[in-house]
Amino acid sequence: MSEKKIPYKIYLSENEIPEKWYNLRADMKNKPAPLLDPGTCKPLNAEQLGVVFCEELVAQELDDTTPYIEIPEEIRDFYKMYRPSPLVRAYCLEKALGTPAKIYYKFEGNNTSGSHKLNSAIAQAYYAKKQGLKGVTTETGAGQWGTALSMACAYFGLDCKVFMVKVSYEQKPFRREVMRTYGADVTPSPSTTTSIGRKILEAHPGTTGSLGCAISEAVEVATSNPGYRYVLGSVLNQVLLHQSVIGLEAKTALDKYGVKPDVIIGCAGGGSNLGGLIAPFMGEKLRGEKDYQFIAVEPASCPSFTRGKFAYDFCDTGMICPLAKMYTLGSGFIPSANHAGGLRFHGMSSTLSQLYHDGFMEARAVEQTSVFAAAEQFARVEGILPAPESSHAIRVAIDEALKCKETGEEKTILFGLTGTGYFDMVAYEKYNDGVMSDYIPTDEDLEVGFRGLPAVPGQD
Ligand SMILES: *Cc1c(COP(=O)(O)O)cnc(C)c1O
Repeated sequence: MSEKKIPYKIYLSENEIPEKWYNLRADMKNKPAPLLDPGTCKPLNAEQLGVVFCEELVAQELDDTTPYIEIPEEIRDFYKMYRPSPLVRAYCLEKALGTPAKIYYKFEGNNTSGSHKLNSAIAQAYYAKKQGLKGVTTETGAGQWGTALSMACAYFGLDCKVFMVKVSYEQKPFRREVMRTYGADVTPSPSTTTSIGRKILEAHPGTTGSLGCAISEAVEVATSNPGYRYVLGSVLNQVLLHQSVIGLEAKTALDKYGVKPDVIIGCAGGGSNLGGLIAPFMGEKLRGEKDYQFIAVEPASCPSFTRGKFAYDFCDTGMICPLAKMYTLGSGFIPSANHAGGLRFHGMSSTLSQLYHDGFMEARAVEQTSVFAAAEQFARVEGILPAPESSHAIRVAIDEALKCKETGEEKTILFGLTGTGYFDMVAYEKYNDGVMSDYIPTDEDLEVGFRGLPAVPGQD
């Protein structure tokens, strides 16, 4: 098909929203390691996980073998309000860079939550409702997940309790108000409303909180209130499963025009958008049908893949959550105070960790000033104001396109544009004022986090 025929935006019709999620684990020879009980270090079964998580979500979490899982009609109906999301050919960016590379991005910021997180939030709220629960609890950092979940809970009439990392609660009052507008109850974490919160405050008075603390509080509230369960917006297998809609739609759109990407790039916080975007393509690679280069992009200030250890670790600071085997910096790791670009979780999806460990994927760490430089370059030619998280992927997409300019290769690059950055203007302000700095943790800094890794029998 001739090049000219590819439009700026490849839209799909409503009927082309996937009917099934794709479960990448079904095609993995080496499955991701199971979640362990932090007390006994034995794999957790469905019944044990069901104390914390919704039943159906537990079934999805543990399912390593079913390749396609039906998306319930109620969830597809909600998807129809903001999906299919556009796949954009970045003609203007290509021209500005003077590259022979062809660049595409899948834009997930076209909804009020401003990110891809809504794809999983609506699924998780649906299963909670179906189980007859009263509500769900969760944590949020910058606020995208809390916003997405509050929208989903409002839609299904569920109570939503969000523990928001205190520093974000104070610095991002608008995010907080969006959540409250959708009916969520938002508490700054650590708080005095939970015993783990009180313990953390006693040990670290004046702390501004972390995702790990907020997770501990949310889990405590879910497990001590009948009719509540805890939900998580990234990292878990179930979340990657729901996010496979991103990759499935992208593949359908590209297939229509006979386009096969050579390089697929995504930012990686806990791994959900990246896992979702690459899912169907990685499936082909795992089955030996096609080959692609996959690149995970993370902040140099929170480098789980590139400098972390592949080990069992806690997902939270309070050490009450299951242990997950993943690339991790240790549950005590907190990125330096000047870090502004998001993607600050200490660990990484165990599915992606296994794929990375087995050599199916690469990872790159990038510094935040170069990320914001890429964000501005992109905003000025493509129009969209990108989230700082998404801009990690933009950085590496631009780097790859510039490499093509040198070599003359006409590679096709696909990257995930996960969201918009309207609530991140304080970070943009720092960059515009020239006061944003880069901090790369030293080996000694990282050693402190590694020392907190739990000893798990049979692991090194
Ligand atoms: C949460 C978030 C991310 C990172 O989370 P993943 O689970 O790694 O996808 C990336 N981009 C945006 C806009 C987000 O809100």
